[in-house]
Amino acid sequence: MALIVKKFGGSSVATPDKMRAIVRRVLKDMKEEDKIVLVVSAMGDTTDELVSLAGQITSKPYGREMDMLLSTGEQISIALMAMAFKEAGRKSVSFTGAQAGIVTSDAFNKGRILEINAQRVINALDEGNIVIVAGFQGMTDGGDITTLGRGGSDTTAVAVAGAIHADACEIYTDVDGIYTSDPRVVPDAKKMEEITYGEMLEMAKLGAGVMQPRAVEMGSRFNVPIHVRSTFAETEGTMIQEDYSMEVKQYLIRGVAEDKNVAKVTVLGVPNKPGHAYRIFAELADRNIDVDMIVQSVRVANEGVTDITFTVSRDDSALVCDVLGDIRRDMDIEDILIDEKMGKVSVVGAGMAGHPGIAASMFGLMGDNGINIEIISTSEISITCLIGEEHVDKAVRAIHAHFFDQD
Ligand code: ASP
Ligand code: MG
Repeated sequence: MALIVKKFGGSSVATPDKMRAIVRRVLKDMKEEDKIVLVVSAMGDTTDELVSLAGQITSKPYGREMDMLLSTGEQISIALMAMAFKEAGRKSVSFTGAQAGIVTSDAFNKGRILEINAQRVINALDEGNIVIVAGFQGMTDGGDITTLGRGGSDTTAVAVAGAIHADACEIYTDVDGIYTSDPRVVPDAKKMEEITYGEMLEMAKLGAGVMQPRAVEMGSRFNVPIHVRSTFAETEGTMIQEDYSMEVKQYLIRGVAEDKNVAKVTVLGVPNKPGHAYRIFAELADRNIDVDMIVQSVRVANEGVTDITFTVSRDDSALVCDVLGDIRRDMDIEDILIDEKMGKVSVVGAGMAGHPGIAASMFGLMGDNGINIEIISTSEISITCLIGEEHVDKAVRAIHAHFFDQD
């Protein structure tokens, strides 16, 4: 008996016909005694359409009401999917995030799964149901509906898989696996058979859109192997797991990631005194703004002040403006500059540790292509450059060609 969670994204459930195709595939692939949970996203572009509907009413971020609205998308798909299974003669039941026992933090639009009380799901499986769970949503302790951030159905799927001790979590999507780079940008990007949680997490954080970073984190925490594969083809996809199962060639670089949803914020003339950086970042954290690539530099000519630069996701830049605007006078800050047209390009690979020269090659490629690097940041397994958004695709292609096309 296998216990498997299968997640189907929005494009996979976009129409009733596609839903029926999923039913056929699930029933064909499973053995009679297998237990299957499906986690589904909202149909097609439903979530985008709901966001735009809200935009016609307000430009303010009403977090709670937004989640009330967005969670309806997934509720439509679970109901229809359960009906489709019943029509095919299978017992099936649908659950919203709350009904599936998914408890989240009360950060609206960015809820974090705190725990899953999966008993109801387990009982329904024991009764022979195909269980359909709404992705992307949960409920706070206080009973408010939350959503988990765009792409959050991945996280639901992996977390549910962890909670019910599933053998695997399969993520069905419109691409057939994880590529060394986005194939739309780099046509000769290669599909990987395997990648480690660590590398995938880094790729996802740095912009590889295939998986939500938190989903990978969950997989690693609960040791759930994640199989990313195509809804529309039978081929094997990419396994994300703790370690490589085969003798793979020692890769220095595993992938090249890009992110064009980046804004650079510069806070000019912050008094160079203890507690100021704290105040700025504490206020941002209070509003749940994720900050990345922080650089503080002291001005040689004016020791009394310092400049702090950091990046945020572009969607948060209006909120950052609000927050900093509020504390600006209070803290005697000279000026706040926001550049929304930035992007990041990163190389990722566990093998790069202990191999000098990778950073130099990357920076050299930028120079050769006339691309100015604004900020550089590194982790043990990645190097990231902040550059103008308009240069990102060219940079990714140059880096990919350099590291992957030599063999
Ligand atoms: N429907 C949500 C979104 O479009 C969640 C998901 O698809 O994973 O972001
Ligand atoms: Mg979607």
